[in-house]
Amino acid sequence: MTSFVLTGGHVVDPKNGIDKKCDVVVENGVIVDIAENISEYSEFKRIDVSGKHIFPGLIDLQVHLREPGREDKETIQTGLQSALCGGITSVVSMPNTHPVTDSQSVVEFQLSRAKQLNLANLYPAGAITKGQKGKEIAEMWEMKNSGIVAITDDGVDVQNEGLLEKAMYYAKTHDLVLMSHCQNEALSGGGVLHEGDISTKLALPGISAQAEDLAVYKNLLLAEKTGCKLHLLHNSTKGSVALIEEFKKRGVNVSAETCPQYITLTDTICDNYNTQGKMYPPIRSQEHQDALIDGLKKNIISVISTDHAPHLWFEKEKPFIESAWGSVGVECSFALCYTRLVKTGELSLSDLLAKMTFQPAEVISIPRGDLSIGSVADIAVFDLEKEWEIKVSEMQTKGGNCVFEGMKVFGKPTHVFVAGDEKLTRILH
Ligand SMILES: [Zn+2]
Repeated sequence: MTSFVLTGGHVVDPKNGIDKKCDVVVENGVIVDIAENISEYSEFKRIDVSGKHIFPGLIDLQVHLREPGREDKETIQTGLQSALCGGITSVVSMPNTHPVTDSQSVVEFQLSRAKQLNLANLYPAGAITKGQKGKEIAEMWEMKNSGIVAITDDGVDVQNEGLLEKAMYYAKTHDLVLMSHCQNEALSGGGVLHEGDISTKLALPGISAQAEDLAVYKNLLLAEKTGCKLHLLHNSTKGSVALIEEFKKRGVNVSAETCPQYITLTDTICDNYNTQGKMYPPIRSQEHQDALIDGLKKNIISVISTDHAPHLWFEKEKPFIESAWGSVGVECSFALCYTRLVKTGELSLSDLLAKMTFQPAEVISIPRGDLSIGSVADIAVFDLEKEWEIKVSEMQTKGGNCVFEGMKVFGKPTHVFVAGDEKLTRILH
């Protein structure tokens, strides 16, 4: 059943400037009409979503699905189910799998698995360098032909500037966006949390803000020189925001994202050696959070992704220095951002959604993220009144690590459609 009318809901579609009560008609998986009080299409099933909000399906540019290789932490199936439970219908998977997604065969495996599962849309990213070792450029052209939408060595940063420049020229030739995890390893090496009062108090080695800023600067300079389309992953510092603003003014083709952990938490989360707060890049202090939120308001940071990084629970039950990095996030990212940014009046609902729908779609050039007539019906219906407590034990992900555990947030999806096919009911029942 992929033909129906959603009735009584409030549609927010930032790309088309819609923010009002409307009915949405879907026929054979495609949006065919959006208008107030539609009475035609009487033969279609009507789904009453009164009191709810209707959004384009959300898009997450940075998700670690762990398959192939670490299916104990996450699989393409559990990762995509988890995403759908957060209203996310399109996911970009990071290439730090085992083997690394640096060849045609791994890309083709991931895409065929996703097709077989028929859950959310999967868009693989391929590695910049073979094995993500930073030595030799991966098979970019073959991977592009197999369906990657971006290249990135996420998890590590390409430290060799000569190689990065060459990769940018290749990426430009192949019309691929290059996504950088910005971290100067000479400066961050050995660090495990933000360098500041908390790292001093805990006597743990810190990662300075400059370790990110320097790498951001390097990436921006090279993108300016090469003309490569650049996307900066998970920005966490005040300096990054200032640099991105400057280079955008200079006309560089750059987009940037941040993640819920950097705008809802500060490094105080690591106090008492709480390893759930160990993140790469690290969760920073209030002044950095304030700058990131300012960057979101000015759309210098135009994307919010999650960096969903599932690990086994016991990998966090270790001394801080040895414990795993990261947190799961796809099931609560919208709720966290809505609660932190929209409920507080920092951003309008439409401006938040722009960063989770059509703006990320533009980064990877996919025809998703809006509710235009004729577009594929990827739709998320949210109950924004719904208050809930984040509990990793209730999530679809296999990951047992959640830095947001116990936080109370607003907004949960009630229906999530991919090409007009409702997925939540299938996952939850
Ligand atoms: Zn990263």
